[in-house]
Amino acid sequence: MNIEQLKQLAKRRGFFWQSDEIYGGLSGFYVYGHLGLLLKHKWENVWRKYFLSLDENFFEIETPDIMSEDVFKASGHVESFVDPICICSRCKNVERADQLLEDVLGENFEGKSPEELLKLIKKHNIKCPKCGGSLKEAGELNMMFPLTVGVGQLSKAYLRPETAQGAYVNFRQIFEIMRRKLPLGLAIIGKAFRNEISPRQLLLRTREFSQAELQIFFDPQTINQHKRWDEIKNYRLIISTAKSKKIVKMKSDDVVKKCNLPKMYVYYMARVQEFYLNILKIPENKFRFKELSEEEKAFYNKYHWDIELKFNSTGKFSEIAGIHYRTSHDLERHEKASGVKQTISIDKKKFIPHVIELSFGVDRNIFALLDFSFRETRNQIIMSFPPALSPIDVAVFPLVNRDRLPEKASEIYRHINKTFVSFYDSSGSIGRRYARQDEIGTPFCVTIDRQTLEDNTVTLRDRDTTVQIRIKVDDIEKTINDIIDGKIMFRKAGKVVYEPKD
Ligand code: AMP
Repeated sequence: MNIEQLKQLAKRRGFFWQSDEIYGGLSGFYVYGHLGLLLKHKWENVWRKYFLSLDENFFEIETPDIMSEDVFKASGHVESFVDPICICSRCKNVERADQLLEDVLGENFEGKSPEELLKLIKKHNIKCPKCGGSLKEAGELNMMFPLTVGVGQLSKAYLRPETAQGAYVNFRQIFEIMRRKLPLGLAIIGKAFRNEISPRQLLLRTREFSQAELQIFFDPQTINQHKRWDEIKNYRLIISTAKSKKIVKMKSDDVVKKCNLPKMYVYYMARVQEFYLNILKIPENKFRFKELSEEEKAFYNKYHWDIELKFNSTGKFSEIAGIHYRTSHDLERHEKASGVKQTISIDKKKFIPHVIELSFGVDRNIFALLDFSFRETRNQIIMSFPPALSPIDVAVFPLVNRDRLPEKASEIYRHINKTFVSFYDSSGSIGRRYARQDEIGTPFCVTIDRQTLEDNTVTLRDRDTTVQIRIKVDDIEKTINDIIDGKIMFRKAGKVVYEPKD
């Protein structure tokens, strides 16, 4: 499977496609169609449920996409949120210098200065990918989109490049409301905007994207502990350090000692890995934590490990999330710039809380779900999403369009639709209808036939095996829920009435 096949399926079936296509397309912006949006909402809800239940003092908030220039001056983004660029002397095409090198040489060059990058470009005789002209260094470009707000007296502002600042500038207020307890977790799921120089690879690098970020504020003196440490101390993390770069499995306890990381940080690494392997069902050999070197790290991070997945479509590991120990960097700078105290007092101890940030790119995760679910079997595409994440949960079909079957099927559909995202389809042969659902990843199909009118039973079909079982109409919801929750195996949930031959 390659990225082109994914792109075609995404467009043909309504997952996503480039925006403004009737005008030739606007690079780096995507539209989510109905199936893509259902998938995105499912992912966000699964993320919400999992991460907000890690601690009773974790909450979700929503803050504006536009924030004043003051916020980003204080955070350091106005000065430091920049990418190195080079420009073609012939056609004036602008490229992100580190990415161009990465494309040609297959290594990571993030964090190197524009001068160093140009030296490498010259050394390897790399030319403009558009016209073959020679490239020259053009310094750095700030990635934020500037805006002016209001009429008359205008205020300078930016579209936020990360959701995080919304949590930082509101921390003090929420800390008071939530009765002054630490750790305090503030989650934001929302849009972020970056004027990427070279948007590419569908949803992987866009200019408008969604993030799901959790900022965990804590007392820095507690960084070497976590009250639930024992639950994960023997859990084996899949890591690749900046030094060795080899992928190894190591117990959380050993990661603390060997990688010199605090327990609080490693605790969240374990929870994030569990999220990917257990909930999103990413195969172990496609997952790794990658430690960033000093020069690769974002300017605000003391510890910075990315979560990378090895995609089937690209054959390469790519970043989809990160765990960032931002220390007191942001709160301290906001205290200084705004004059509003961020220092808190707990048990007579005064300090500025430190922050561990769990930062996920939602669209990259959607790309991952599509990439890992894509199968070509039975002469067609089957999207084998984990059932809890499939855009549509259940499709309902009358076997034929006569003998009162459509009426009965509609009645059942209306009922199931109250519990599950359901889809009713009565057009074309039953085989075609199954195939259409397989292609969009619907895990279950319910078919109403003549026997349904006699004994109020239906067939339930499993997407991945095509096995069908017969169950009572009244049991449909419970059976599906039990299968999704892993309480019962599909074949054991009813009488098997169809088995594929091979
Ligand atoms: P960062 O603040 O750069 O560490 O980004 C946090 C997360 O946002 C990353 O791990 C990505 O998953 C996601 N992300 C960053 N930039 C983009 C982009 N241009 N397009 C899509 N997702 C992005």
